[in-house]
Amino acid sequence: MIFKYYNFSSLPISKEQLRDYMERMDRANGNSRDQNVSRAAIVDLESNLWMDRTLRFKIDNAVPQQTKTLIHRAMRHWQENTCLKFIQASTHTQDYVKFVNRYNGCFSTHVGREGGIQYINLPFDCNHLGIVIHEIGHALGFWHEQSRPDRDRYVRVNLNNTSPLNWFNFLKMRDSVVDHQGSHYDYGSIMHYHLNSFSKPGCTGSDCITLSISNTSEYVRQGSPLVGWWQNLSDQDILQTNRFYSCPCRSRNEGIYGNLTIFLRHGSNLFNPHNTDPSVFPTAYVTVTAVDCNGLKTVRNSQTIQNKVNPRWDEWLVMGVRTWQFFRIRVWDQQITPSSQSLTMSQTFTVSSTPKMREKNCHNSDCTNFVVFDHEVVPSANFRKGSSILHKRTYVTCLLLNLLDTLVLH
Ligand SMILES: [Zn+2]
Repeated sequence: MIFKYYNFSSLPISKEQLRDYMERMDRANGNSRDQNVSRAAIVDLESNLWMDRTLRFKIDNAVPQQTKTLIHRAMRHWQENTCLKFIQASTHTQDYVKFVNRYNGCFSTHVGREGGIQYINLPFDCNHLGIVIHEIGHALGFWHEQSRPDRDRYVRVNLNNTSPLNWFNFLKMRDSVVDHQGSHYDYGSIMHYHLNSFSKPGCTGSDCITLSISNTSEYVRQGSPLVGWWQNLSDQDILQTNRFYSCPCRSRNEGIYGNLTIFLRHGSNLFNPHNTDPSVFPTAYVTVTAVDCNGLKTVRNSQTIQNKVNPRWDEWLVMGVRTWQFFRIRVWDQQITPSSQSLTMSQTFTVSSTPKMREKNCHNSDCTNFVVFDHEVVPSANFRKGSSILHKRTYVTCLLLNLLDTLVLH
């Protein structure tokens, strides 16, 4: 997976180290809001992107030529499939990845750009193209696929088949940490573990299976890929990268031209699922970022009013006339500040003329604890606020606020 400082699998690790690790994980999952620790890179998912869509790197002199060749092949693979670039760090570069081969195990020390020097460790036994592509994926901002907040609908974690010391490798992340950019759970992702990763030494047969596929029909729909067989980026890996880094469209057909309008609403119990008093209407902050086919962003902010008696809150956010690709909705429970630690939800959705997302709808009445939204792209430049058929829609997409969904192990 995915965690910062994630790979202790091949290192001797004490209980103290594990506890320290778990605490850091806990903070990464937002469970310790009073920690005096900067979580900016986690709070703002975009702040750990590489600037100018370019990862700068150095390769340690001790890295052998065979590994260097693989590193360059892996970077070329990322470059050919996404809009990212890789260039050598200069003596003035502050933030860069250094490839080394000093330690045991294949790992990246960070997920995304952390600031300063960060490392990807590739000793001799990591000399496989897929592994190098995978570790670069961590440095670009990817967590492990099986750590997605929705993973329990697709895989089952068999903790009995792994040592408790390795349980942290199977933690599930919260929505505030992971935005899967509107992609579906991807068994074929370069970031997905093998089905017997971290199994106990000497195990046999089914006792070695640490991850079971629990959604067989979806697995078959995806073409029954070899899980954890890291060779190249999957289509979903590429989609996620291009969205995470707001890459321009490859063709204009990928976007929809028109006036994009996002309709927002949320229920009365948004930040207190146990609140049954509809007159208490907590404050929420919503940021919508829409990205057009040139990779340019348009941002609109919205704020609910605290203690509003009306348990419903509706707003139209008009993003303007462009060729739109996708939009991202973020929900905060505090006003956004540089030190804000309040991101509750970040989700990304494809702009569609006939929103496919409505396949996953829930009825308004089921949405008391949800942010609900829909969107449309109106081709006419004469769009009039409030004139849309959105008024009449009874079904809208819900963003579940997983406030109580912490580090649950299954
Ligand atoms: Zn990994």
